Amino acid sequence: MRPEAQRLHLYNSLTKEKETFTPLNEGFVGMYVCGPTVYNNVHLGNCRTFLSFDLVYRYLQHLGYKVRYVRNITDAGHLENDADSGEDRIAKKARLESLEPMEVVQRYTVDFHQVMAQFNALPPSIEPTATGHIIEQIAIIEQILESGYAYITNGSVYFDVVRFNEDQSYGKLSGRKLEDMIANTRELAAQSEKKNPQDFALWKKAEPRHIMRWPSPWSDGFPGWHLECTAMSTKYLGEQFDIHGGGMDLKFPHHECEIAQAEACNKTSPVRFWMHANMLTLNGKKMAKSTGNHILPGALFSGDNDKMSKAINPTVAKFFMYQAHYRSILDFSNDALMASEKGFYRLMDAVALMDQLPASPKGTSSEIDVTAWRQSCYDAMNDDFNSPILIAQLFEGAKFINTIADGSTQVNQEDLALLCQTMKAFLFDVLGLTPPQEGRQDHDHLKSAMDLLIDLRKSARANKDFATSDAIRDRLQEAGIQLKDGKDGTSFSLKNPNS
Ligand SMILES: [Zn+2]
Repeated sequence: MRPEAQRLHLYNSLTKEKETFTPLNEGFVGMYVCGPTVYNNVHLGNCRTFLSFDLVYRYLQHLGYKVRYVRNITDAGHLENDADSGEDRIAKKARLESLEPMEVVQRYTVDFHQVMAQFNALPPSIEPTATGHIIEQIAIIEQILESGYAYITNGSVYFDVVRFNEDQSYGKLSGRKLEDMIANTRELAAQSEKKNPQDFALWKKAEPRHIMRWPSPWSDGFPGWHLECTAMSTKYLGEQFDIHGGGMDLKFPHHECEIAQAEACNKTSPVRFWMHANMLTLNGKKMAKSTGNHILPGALFSGDNDKMSKAINPTVAKFFMYQAHYRSILDFSNDALMASEKGFYRLMDAVALMDQLPASPKGTSSEIDVTAWRQSCYDAMNDDFNSPILIAQLFEGAKFINTIADGSTQVNQEDLALLCQTMKAFLFDVLGLTPPQEGRQDHDHLKSAMDLLIDLRKSARANKDFATSDAIRDRLQEAGIQLKDGKDGTSFSLKNPNS
């Protein structure tokens, strides 16, 4: 373990305070993050959440912890509007597109993994699915029924929030009081199978047209959405574990229900540190497909959208996200991204200089305090993963590198090695950025080759050799490269691999 691990503080959404992080078992961290419901392409807001926890995962590992990171895939049980009635999101998509539900699941799980890989996010240690843990979910329902905090109605099982709240407190994470929730509710109990509108489904009896169904002691049906996370976190991390993360929008009711289920079942508070990542807006407004204020990661990377002036490299988009703290709202806009891109390449240009920096002899004193600078990088990350402050420190490091390169600052060999090693560790291991050289070089090579082909095609046309000029265009098209003839000559674009 690095000594810096002693000073990690993180903001616990449960206590609403920054606390010193100590894991349950020395040297080991158990972390659970609510994963995507795979019924459509992953959106950028979700990506931000998963990238926030990728940073947490990477930094914990950098500190020397052995981390078991569990992030689930919701492939059943998540109904429309996060509600207890209505259609299953995956089944609905399957019906609309005439697909088998598992085809929908497969398609969007693959999309999710591809996007995460483009962002260079590390895969979790375990990625369990809801449908793969029906037995575990049924066992938990049986335990909750036994403890008296659930009841059966018409083959469905509901969690009895009022009964639970008599013994424990429901609402401690979101800071809501059950009395207020009851006072503000308009749902008529008479129309529902539930005793109280706040009760939530643990098991739902499937209606005849519901295709995703499993046998259970109560009915052929399916588990409630909140249950899978309790089942899978308990199975892989134990009845109590260190960190539970997710998007801010999951705090209530999803995480509140997870706490209630686990406490009813295991008689212990399941999570020691709750962490919530804030949302992402686009041009100052909430992102929503329905209003058109929306951009998918694939469209962002390909440039095939009307929100950005050009294609954005995934690592630049990730760098941009980390320039805001995970608990603040982040606004995506063309200007902000372009500014971020400049900064990113400034850092990478400094990195490219690192191998040829001159050092003054060993033992001579340095004109900059590299140890203090390195400490401030750790201080930033130890202060609730404050990536914007870390990045500011890395810009400071880039400034050091530039002044060492131009000879205006002297550092000795030890300090130079420490400076370079710290820059690399934070940029590539902790932030998980990808050095752009390869991509840039590839692009330069492609551009030279394309210029040549465009010139050849032009002269073929000038010689009325249309067979050759058409063949060049068609073969490029087959290879996914589109030529566009315009007023200013011919340009080319790459076909979006996600379309
Ligand atoms: Zn969850």
